[in-house]
Amino acid sequence: MTCALIYRGNDILLCRDENDKLSFPVVDINNYDNSEIIYFETDGTQYAVLPEKTAETIAGGVWRGLRESWGELEPKTWNIAAKGAELAHFMQTNRFCGTCGTALVKASDISRRCPACKREFFPSLSPAIIVLVTRGEEALLVHAKSFRRPFYALVAGFVETGETIEECVAREIYEETSLRVTDIRYFGSQSWPFPSQLMLGFTARYASGRLRWADGELSDGGFFTRESHPLLPSLPSISRRLIDAWLNGEIGGK
Ligand SMILES: [Zn+2]
Repeated sequence: MTCALIYRGNDILLCRDENDKLSFPVVDINNYDNSEIIYFETDGTQYAVLPEKTAETIAGGVWRGLRESWGELEPKTWNIAAKGAELAHFMQTNRFCGTCGTALVKASDISRRCPACKREFFPSLSPAIIVLVTRGEEALLVHAKSFRRPFYALVAGFVETGETIEECVAREIYEETSLRVTDIRYFGSQSWPFPSQLMLGFTARYASGRLRWADGELSDGGFFTRESHPLLPSLPSISRRLIDAWLNGEIGGK
């Protein structure tokens, strides 16, 4: 029996186990078309990514947003769900050779090859930064136009070709807020499969400048104290981990 990962857009199909906890459906893989299955192994266990249409074969399955399921699944389980989502996305969006246009064939569990020019394609990641800027005891919290809920979070953006990650941190803060920062330090990272992103968390200290929403991505924000701050993101993302480290006094002055 094999754990099945089935996706529909950004949703994943989950089942309740005997302890009423959400987990992956378990299937007899021989009942499915092997050519449509993506296999991968984590910690010695094999997982199978099945096409969306197989959802109808799963009794008692419930769709959950992959993002929202973070708090409902064990962290290790969620990482497996995220990896499966990345592989499913890779296979769906890499069907033809980018060099010669020939249809790609499966080369390994995580790659495809062009039968004409032999080029092999692997899933690629887009690194993105997220940064908590402090000014004394205060931290910069911002609201982006793209946020679907009224919370405030951190400045974030994609690393561009030809720049270091630290240059990206300084550039994103300047482009979005007109502030200059110093003392940029690495905090931690997180796989962020929406899709194919690797989120790199940083801290930085305010150096100079006045807040101005320069490039139109942010609509509001400011420096807030630990005692008086707006609504914060609830998911245990790296954004929230950075904010919690500040709230606990591990980052920024006390
Ligand atoms: Zn080719």
